[in-house]
Amino acid sequence: MSTPTDHRRTVDEHRAVVARLLASASPGTEEVPLTAAAGRVLAEDLAAAVPLPVFTNSAMDGYAARWADVGAASASAPVRLPVAEDLPAGRTDVPPLAPGTVHRIMTGAPVPEGADVVVPVEETDGGTGTVVITSSPAAGAYLRHAGEDLAAGVVALPAGTVLGPSQLGLAASVGRASVLVARRPRVLVLSTGSELVAPGTPLAPGQIYESNSLLLAAAVDAAGGEARTLHFVPDDVDQFLATVRAELADADLLLTSGGVSMGAYEVVKDALGALGTVDFVKVAVQPGGPQGSGTVDGVPVVTLPGNPVSSSVSFEVFVRPALRRALGIRQPERLSTTAPLAGPLTSPAGRRQYLRGSFDGAQVSLVGGPGSHLVAHLARADCLVVVPEDVTSLPAGSEVQILLVEGALR
Ligand code: AMP
Ligand code: MG
Repeated sequence: MSTPTDHRRTVDEHRAVVARLLASASPGTEEVPLTAAAGRVLAEDLAAAVPLPVFTNSAMDGYAARWADVGAASASAPVRLPVAEDLPAGRTDVPPLAPGTVHRIMTGAPVPEGADVVVPVEETDGGTGTVVITSSPAAGAYLRHAGEDLAAGVVALPAGTVLGPSQLGLAASVGRASVLVARRPRVLVLSTGSELVAPGTPLAPGQIYESNSLLLAAAVDAAGGEARTLHFVPDDVDQFLATVRAELADADLLLTSGGVSMGAYEVVKDALGALGTVDFVKVAVQPGGPQGSGTVDGVPVVTLPGNPVSSSVSFEVFVRPALRRALGIRQPERLSTTAPLAGPLTSPAGRRQYLRGSFDGAQVSLVGGPGSHLVAHLARADCLVVVPEDVTSLPAGSEVQILLVEGALR
């Protein structure tokens, strides 16, 4: 039944609210050494100070030659030529090549003026005084031309690039020792719940191990933020507020888990609701309907539900893209594709459902049911299956949208 009190914010509306909130939390830029830039987000268009290759060089160990001298070489008509110079990689003075001679040359050494082909050592007798060439490559072969990979002055990496291994390699290749990157938003992570106990200690009846802060902090770091985990607090408003306020000064975002549902001891809702600067809403999503966002003492806060799967999926759907957008990342969203369902599914009307899935490259299987307590199943999933609000059942073989998240299998 739909009554005004049932009104739910759509997934896209809440995504936009969180994105706006986190855009204001963006902490600017900083210059970092390239050696410390892995995983950071480029905040400048990085122009190439040198072309790539930097100079025309040899792709093979062999002999730099003139095609006119060696082009006719064959096993039955070998060509014998004097070796005028030896060119190891790193030689900086490279004499030009006179007609009727060759230079012995190693991979990466500059190709001398006058040479227009490199004969690989395998096609020769390997001589050092004179060389016998028994086969010639095609004209122009084995030359790596200056600038053929990248011209000098062009943008090698645009702002918003996440610096992974190959991007760091490119930045180094064009001579950069440091880069301007987005500062990482400092994210406080705080779990709530009187039933929670730190892993590594014995459980009393009714207690469970606290896991959301580990999960969320790792997700924050993987998204490009810098998580700091506060020690979890019981369902006590004063203790919650005291913990938050003691740590808020250096934070760009506070992320809480738990205490936002419809129960009696909803510590986050009780504590932050009273401030009047945090909205608690129901979102038309499963899992993770109860959500909150706003500010505490001017610092943005997003309150996630406590069920571990809800916490994880809420972060994935609402926080991760907003955080990555705030960092300026060119592609803030997960890679998405469609895949046929291995089996049937059902879904509640009026809710966008994000089910845990496993994608084998051809079809997608559900991993566990919709229960938001199924942490073991969550850890075996590598994608989220998105079921639109107006879909209540789908037969096996239906094409569904999937989001490729980081999973156990990747
Ligand atoms: P809540 O949102 O606080 O009502 O919690 C919903 C469910 O999630 C309860 O079963 C909690 O015990 C569980 N839960 C809440 N927070 C955590 C946490 N940090 N780690 C593990 N389970 C949690
Ligand atoms: Mg709780």
